[in-house]
Amino acid sequence: MGLTNNAVGKHAVDSGLEIKKQTPEDKVVALAGNPNVGKSTVFNSLTGMNQHTGNWPGKTVANAQGYCKSKKNSYVMVDIPGTYSLMAHSKEEEVARNFICFGEPDAVVVVCDATCLERNLNLVLQTIEISERVVVCVNLLDEAKRKNIKIDLKELSRKLGIPVVGTIARKKNTLAELMQAVDEVLVESKEFKPLRITYPELIENAIGMLEPLVESKAKGHMNARWLSLKLLDQDESLVEEIQATLGEGFLADRELQETLQEVREYLTANGLDSDKLKDQIVASLVIAAEKVCEDVVIKETKTYNAFDHRIDRVITSRWAGYPIMLALLAVIFWITITGANYPSELLGNGLFWIQDRLTEFFHYIGAPEWLHGMIVLGIYRVLAWGVSGMFPPMAIFFPLFTLLEDVGYLPRIAYNLDCPFKKCCACGKQALTMCMGFGCNAAGIIGCRIIDSPRERLLAMLTNNFVPCNGRFPTLIAIITMFFVGFSESLGASILSALLLTCVILFGIIMTFVMTRLLSKTVLKGVPSSYTLELPPYRRPQIGKVIVRSIFDRTLFVLGRAVAVAIPAGLLIWVMANVNISGISLLNHCATFLDPFAKLIGLDGVILMAFILGFPANEIVVPIILMAYMAQGSLLELESLAEMKQLFVAHGWTWITAICTMIFSLCHWPCSTTLITIRKESGSMKWVALAVLIPTAVGIVVCAIVANVGRLFL
Ligand code: GDP
Repeated sequence: MGLTNNAVGKHAVDSGLEIKKQTPEDKVVALAGNPNVGKSTVFNSLTGMNQHTGNWPGKTVANAQGYCKSKKNSYVMVDIPGTYSLMAHSKEEEVARNFICFGEPDAVVVVCDATCLERNLNLVLQTIEISERVVVCVNLLDEAKRKNIKIDLKELSRKLGIPVVGTIARKKNTLAELMQAVDEVLVESKEFKPLRITYPELIENAIGMLEPLVESKAKGHMNARWLSLKLLDQDESLVEEIQATLGEGFLADRELQETLQEVREYLTANGLDSDKLKDQIVASLVIAAEKVCEDVVIKETKTYNAFDHRIDRVITSRWAGYPIMLALLAVIFWITITGANYPSELLGNGLFWIQDRLTEFFHYIGAPEWLHGMIVLGIYRVLAWGVSGMFPPMAIFFPLFTLLEDVGYLPRIAYNLDCPFKKCCACGKQALTMCMGFGCNAAGIIGCRIIDSPRERLLAMLTNNFVPCNGRFPTLIAIITMFFVGFSESLGASILSALLLTCVILFGIIMTFVMTRLLSKTVLKGVPSSYTLELPPYRRPQIGKVIVRSIFDRTLFVLGRAVAVAIPAGLLIWVMANVNISGISLLNHCATFLDPFAKLIGLDGVILMAFILGFPANEIVVPIILMAYMAQGSLLELESLAEMKQLFVAHGWTWITAICTMIFSLCHWPCSTTLITIRKESGSMKWVALAVLIPTAVGIVVCAIVANVGRLFL
């Protein structure tokens, strides 16, 4: 995946984002930056858009462009993925690097975190190696001030040789200066002379030997010094892009190949093999960043960051890390369960009131009964069920979860879980993709792009389904309430529900570990890669923004998807329940066929059928079960969970059926959207098949054990 700047007649790097200019004079500005430096906030403020990218690397996987006008010109701003470097270790870095190097933006703005400028400068230094038109935006000046860090912006600009502006992105008015600086670079065409990083003598000699030839062959299309260094570095990930930009012939050129060979031999003869070369390049960047920061960053006290460290010592400690994590999860579930009850009922009443009016309307216009049945009792009811059951818990769960993310807690979860994941030969960042899976497994799969190693990325993708997405929560909550907690609205009951739900989730997490380990010892063998996990500073969350963002970006998004799926599903279910063969509905025929096998794993034919029909969206599983039991031919509205339980018990449900249904809900094939996403991300049907097989096999085995052992105690 990548970004292109097609509209300006440049080559296509690949089919990524196509830049949409409004006038030919528009200039393209890339917004780059480490993750979590406020890049999206800058982008949103400048373009008036509402792109949300989050607190950890990788969430910026979707690229965005927006339009923005300064006093002197208009610009297309391109928000490229948050990345620490352009050395392309991960997909994000590749996308970011490709756009900066080959997308030929007119300028690049690198957003930096003022509280850790030195580390952020790594990206700045790499960017000025490629492009001369770079502006540095030192953001989070307010946080820096709070931590007694002062930045001499003028001196920084002098040392880097490019414009530098200071901003507090949350305050829009501080961004005017940034656009002035972009104008200076692009409209006023002021001359800037970016700092040139000097490498050890041997490398400089090597560059010197190669650069003139590269310059003549590349014909000014690319920065020759940088390209020479990359050719020496043998950066495999660049080959395709270089060929796309400079043509196939460039790399195949004999003269170039010969000189390259000569220079490499020169380096090896002097003791600099490929690994050492890489090390020295990185070290030179680090030293350069250190030098630039001398006299530019002034930390006034030694207590800098001490508060964060104190909190981290507890939150990431061995004894408190896990309990705090589980307790927070339980609290979030508790608030979700207790908070969602009443609004769910209210919404349900409202929606079913509308249904009655729709029925009246259909009767009024004299519509045939089958049409009314299909549209109102089929499609509309599925929708009403879905919306009233899902919306309130999501509207509570997502903001709470986003709040944790905004404060900066999620990367701590990854840190805590790093050790167990390493033991399973996987990577701690998988914990973050699991967190995303709580909202939606498809989102979790896309999130796996944050994992650099393809092996570990596949591990995370194949096991993501073990965390229940939002579509499965209502099923779990309803069963827990019906069979294990009773119907009292007391505090104790709601706490017990939350604890039980936490246990179910814990089971999912344990299964994730078990399967990850099993996979990494079999089909996906390998050693865990090492990486540095960034613990970003804690931040005071912006509660208003969190609520708005999570409602619009997540809740309505997931709900919209569910509604889109529920419409055809509702239709299909209605048809199956209403088409009779020898007096028995198609739905019941199928259920009867599945019954013997389903009984073996503690379910019944109807439940298994419901899971199969729930393939497009998990949230319709319980409604289908209800409908089949009532054999009414349309989805029902039962007044209360107590009535629902009676119905279930009358059809032979026991606590074993309840447990097995919960386990199967947690462990069965992923929904269609998730599978499509896995296909896209992994590029192979083989992994899709495995993604279906793994949870389903686990579900069948565990359910069979629970059912057969459980029956001994009945
Ligand atoms: P990105 O990952 O670089 O895109 O970062 P975001 O734009 O998502 O910002 C991360 C967090 O930092 C959000 O909570 C922002 O509200 C917050 N933030 C961004 N800029 C500033 C700033 O200048 N000051 C403060 N205090 N917070 C900021």
